[in-house]
Amino acid sequence: MEFRMFDLIMKKRKGDALSKEEIDYIIEGYTKGTIPDYQMSALLMAIYFRGLSERETLDLTMAMAKSGDMMDLSAIEGIKVDKHSTGGVGDKTTLVIAPIVAACGGRIAKMSGRGLGHTGGTVDKLSSIPGFQVEIEAKEFFDIVNKTGLCVIGQSGNITPADKKIYALRDVTATIDIIPLIASSIMSKKLASGSDGILLDVKTGSGAFMKSVDESRELARQMVNIGKNAGRKVCALITNMDIPLGNAIGNSLEVIEAIKTLKCEGPKDLEEICVELSAYMLYLSQKGDIEKCRKMAIESIKNGSAFEKLCQMVEAQGGDVDYIKNPEKFEKASIAYEVKADKDGYISKIDSEKCGISSCVLGAGREKKEDEIDYSAGIILLKKTGDKVIKGETIAKLYTNNENAVSKAEGIFKDGITYSSGEPMKQKLIYDSIL
Ligand code: URA
Repeated sequence: MEFRMFDLIMKKRKGDALSKEEIDYIIEGYTKGTIPDYQMSALLMAIYFRGLSERETLDLTMAMAKSGDMMDLSAIEGIKVDKHSTGGVGDKTTLVIAPIVAACGGRIAKMSGRGLGHTGGTVDKLSSIPGFQVEIEAKEFFDIVNKTGLCVIGQSGNITPADKKIYALRDVTATIDIIPLIASSIMSKKLASGSDGILLDVKTGSGAFMKSVDESRELARQMVNIGKNAGRKVCALITNMDIPLGNAIGNSLEVIEAIKTLKCEGPKDLEEICVELSAYMLYLSQKGDIEKCRKMAIESIKNGSAFEKLCQMVEAQGGDVDYIKNPEKFEKASIAYEVKADKDGYISKIDSEKCGISSCVLGAGREKKEDEIDYSAGIILLKKTGDKVIKGETIAKLYTNNENAVSKAEGIFKDGITYSSGEPMKQKLIYDSIL
């Protein structure tokens, strides 16, 4: 059916709901280029102020999911499960969870992203392992999952071109932070990626899109609803991003920390979150109730089977397994600069976003799309929120090969550290779950 974009913008501006046919027309026209950016921008701003009903959000999600290829994973045996994190700093959970879930009999055929802004991306982290391939043809991708239980690749093909275009437009028109648009953007990609079960890790706090638990709960609720209405099994965890996860930020530093976690030698906060996320993914894989799945996840770390799965995945994807077995082989940055505490007291806050930006300045992320990443660059936190410190004590190490970046990175990092004289309240790692 033919509509006039002017009328549709006016309709939304007045606060009326758009029909499925109207939404399909908008998404098809904008993807093909017959609707120009300026009209789409006006519509997005009208949506920003007037919102979308749950029915409109579902219709928008489905229209975006179908705007490109829909992955067919039926060549992989069993229930395929996927995880999506709404983006964090130091979030290396996929590197730990995928092997745990595969070791417990789950199937992970995952497409991951590159770093975005101050947040890191799994594909960049995996690419820091020498030889590791993230671009793999569909047939080989399916074969690897059938053989090893897991394979993690970069987004390929023509998945959700509508979301790609709309996301880029939202980024420059101040229309990113609206829950129905975030929910439909994320869920369109997850539905198009083809897994039967989807676990959503909705991050809350300074390093995340959602700054409050209530906002995160609403985003999670809307995404779970969309997924269920589209016939998938979906659940969500609301997790803390007020503190970076674990101690390492930066690509190979995070791979090393993930390896340690799979060998029971990792930071406890990271291990706890990974066990919980794995338990929910195993639940989606119908391996038992959450309690049983939690026990299976813990056991797979203790008995070494999860670590063995990581080795199998790296080998199947062309990476050098020697680096996984002997992580001291990863190239080290030439500069390891020690950041000292400015005063006596407790660390009451570490701003995750500032840590992420500081790490990017050191070379771990891209400022422009075409920038090269320094895989060895990043930050190791030696003290975290709640720790007691004395003035002059080393609280973090900054790693880089770029001498000129150190003082700027230190300034940004230190700006994100808050001290208190009394011990701060302990923060929860996991706020809520939605089944
Ligand atoms: N991540 C996405 O993929 N889309 C959004 O809109 C926000 C975060």
